[in-house]
Amino acid sequence: MVDGVHDLPVCVVGAGLSGLSAIKQLTDRGIVAVCYEIGSDIGGNWRYNNDNGRSVAYASLRIDTSKERFAFADLAVPSSWPPYLHHSQVCEYLEMYVEEFDLRRSIRFSHEVVSARPDRGGWEVATRDVRSGETVHERYRAVVVASGHHWDPAMPDIAGQFSGRTMHASEYRTPEGFDGANVVVVGLGNTGADIAVELSSHAASVTLSTRSGAHILPRYVMGRPLDSLSSRFGSRLPLSVQRFAYSVILALGGASQRKSGIPKPDAPLLSQHPTVSQDLINLAKSGKVRVVGDVSRLAGEEVEFSDGTVVRADAIIFATGYNISFPFLDESIVAVSRNEIDLYEMVIPVDVPGLYFVGLIQPVGALPPLAEQQARWVARVIGGAPLPSGEQMRRRISQQRTRRQHQYLDRPRHTIQVEYWPYLDHMKALCDAIDARSVTASPAEELHN
Ligand SMILES: Cc1cc2nc3c(=O)[nH]c(=O)nc-3n(C[C@H](O)[C@H](O)[C@H](O)COP(=O)(O)OP(=O)(O)OC[C@H]3O[C@@H](n4cnc5c(N)ncnc54)[C@H](O)[C@@H]3O)c2cc1C
Repeated sequence: MVDGVHDLPVCVVGAGLSGLSAIKQLTDRGIVAVCYEIGSDIGGNWRYNNDNGRSVAYASLRIDTSKERFAFADLAVPSSWPPYLHHSQVCEYLEMYVEEFDLRRSIRFSHEVVSARPDRGGWEVATRDVRSGETVHERYRAVVVASGHHWDPAMPDIAGQFSGRTMHASEYRTPEGFDGANVVVVGLGNTGADIAVELSSHAASVTLSTRSGAHILPRYVMGRPLDSLSSRFGSRLPLSVQRFAYSVILALGGASQRKSGIPKPDAPLLSQHPTVSQDLINLAKSGKVRVVGDVSRLAGEEVEFSDGTVVRADAIIFATGYNISFPFLDESIVAVSRNEIDLYEMVIPVDVPGLYFVGLIQPVGALPPLAEQQARWVARVIGGAPLPSGEQMRRRISQQRTRRQHQYLDRPRHTIQVEYWPYLDHMKALCDAIDARSVTASPAEELHN
């Protein structure tokens, strides 16, 4: 490392839950962190109508993972709060986290990172004050990207023209404005399911379009949050056994999808990101939500679907996911193609020293504890813990990709998929091994051999 670089602070991009955990973990290791946040407050996606212009939270949004699984290891969610938090409670919880660990002093609000590039062994970061427009260039030892991946809407390319109102789900806030309308919701992920359910008691009709169907999981099974039934032990069983166990749980606790019109995908359970909804199946059975195939063509007021259905619609809401993008990083530094990005342990681009990603994962389960372990590991690596060779890291990336492709459908939404327990335990083991050994050994290497 070039002289003096070690004394520079670390730049953290974004003060959502991932960036907050990064500041906390770096600070815990005695590393000075300076976090830049476009918005005027913390919380990212979980601050409703965030003035960063990027929160996609709708008014009724509740997490679909239980509060116990959602909490950072460092701070419990109050026991009096409900099992599934409303977005306002997630934001309040993050505020508690910030106060508890005195993180606010490390954050420069209303500042956007507009570029970051390697510079003389460290990083040169350009930030723009969003109020004054002034841009400043400063040097950092490393950059931790925690800028989120649910803000850049992905829109499908569909033949034809639609004469009604169209929007991406990222713009949807409330059912207001949809009373009495005929609405098509495209996409059967969690957001599409939530919006279709909500609109079914406001709109004249709701048509939910899905390309390949989904296994709809309930929020509660036998009175308990669904994810509270998952366990470390269960996650170590062969995939086929896990799939069988989930099918038994669903048979016991979920509404049957049969006769609902919601197609199950050709692929088995756990081969796509789960769609969790307590109400969708019954609404589909009662006809309040009509489930149809993929959109094939738009023709004026009409929407045509691959199964031959044609509906007249006033509005289309595209719940079609998000692109992974980093406008402040040149493509020569990090290339993202079809949402694929090559990161060692989903954190480190192999050939770019000093660049780290926290929260760039799509867990089957909650994100915060996983982002927290990523941040713990990043703090240790920045602090000097050695990494395996480039070749070993690349091999690991390739193995992980093969494993992902074996389990999940080949879709842009599955490129950063991880499982809650295995990933949590693996990242924790990397940190614990570093803590237990001298930093001159290579614990990451040992764990992977
Ligand atoms: C609808 C929805 C429901 C979800 N439900 C759950 C759930 O039930 N359980 C769960 O665990 N997860 C859930 N997630 C996923 C995850 O928890 C959230 O996306 C979470 O907000 C991710 O936190 P983050 O900090 O990584 O990103 P964000 O919350 O997006 O925060 C990123 C921050 O970075 C800032 N930023 C971005 N670029 C820059 C820049 N260039 N300069 C400065 N600042 C920048 C942004 O302003 C923002 O504040 C859900 C996501 C969505 C979209």
